[in-house]
Amino acid sequence: MKKNDKIYVAGHAGLVGSAIVRELRQEGYSNIVVRTHSELDLLDQRAVQSFFRAEQPQWVFLAAAKVGGIMANCTFPAEFIYNNIMMEANIIQASYDAAAAGLLFLGSTCIYPQMAPQPLKEEYLLTGPLEPTNQPYAVAKIAGIEMCRAFNRQYQTKFTAVMPTNLYGPNDNFDLETSHVLPALIRKFYEAKSRGEDKVVVWGSGKPVREFLYVDDLANACVFLMQNHIQHDLVNIGTGWGITIRDLAGMIKDVVGFSGDMVFDLSKPDGTPVKITDTSRLNSLGWKAKTSLAEGLALTYEWYSNNTK
Ligand code: GDP
Repeated sequence: MKKNDKIYVAGHAGLVGSAIVRELRQEGYSNIVVRTHSELDLLDQRAVQSFFRAEQPQWVFLAAAKVGGIMANCTFPAEFIYNNIMMEANIIQASYDAAAAGLLFLGSTCIYPQMAPQPLKEEYLLTGPLEPTNQPYAVAKIAGIEMCRAFNRQYQTKFTAVMPTNLYGPNDNFDLETSHVLPALIRKFYEAKSRGEDKVVVWGSGKPVREFLYVDDLANACVFLMQNHIQHDLVNIGTGWGITIRDLAGMIKDVVGFSGDMVFDLSKPDGTPVKITDTSRLNSLGWKAKTSLAEGLALTYEWYSNNTK
């Protein structure tokens, strides 16, 4: 990937896409193409084809997706499967037609089978039943991964799919109803501190273990894979280590500077006891996450406190 090659980032306004654009700019890539939703409807096959014919991007980061938590997945299952399949199909086919040198497709570790052993290895994909609430999303993402594999087999393209673990960072969703634990706790501690409250409620027992990757590290890994023209049909991206929710909450409490107590609400579900990815494939390619959880939390808290009313 040369510094003046044309690079298209689909989904540039989201958590992942915005981090990829930041990383590319920082590394000196100057020919980045993006389109807002109103300029280009990725569900419209003709519009996507004519965009690719006009722009002929050499490298494509496919970070556009309809995403959301458990509530959104339950409320809009049709949109989750339809929108994701259409966007992937349109962009993957158009990238092939435009003879793109490489494409990187964003999957997610939440599409591995529900009962897969931990830590999650790439080969566990498609080995068992999925988590029922996000099945439409997972099937759509698996279709995208399989499409990349099939195009590579039939057309010798270099399309790679990556599986990021739980991400966090600037532009995350901080809505208490629909967000994941890390942004939710940043908001809860921030609000409790600014309102002078003396306790924060943390859901569940605090015992579950989760892995968290700072989104700029994900972007760095994605650019690394493209730069080195590494073609793999599936690569996990994570830190490879987990932390208990109790310890995470303690770290966030310190970052925010909240001096009250944490209370565990045992009426709320714990979810899966442990969720961690096996990152040995990516590590063996020469990449490791750089941002410690403490640094990433400080950066995310700084962004949140500057961008909230
Ligand atoms: P999961 O990784 O799919 O289980 O999704 P979450 O990020 O929503 O939850 C991870 C763990 O954090 C669960 O054990 C939750 O009960 C716990 N947790 C503690 N406090 C909160 C909170 O305020 N919001 C969320 N979403 N989870 C919380």
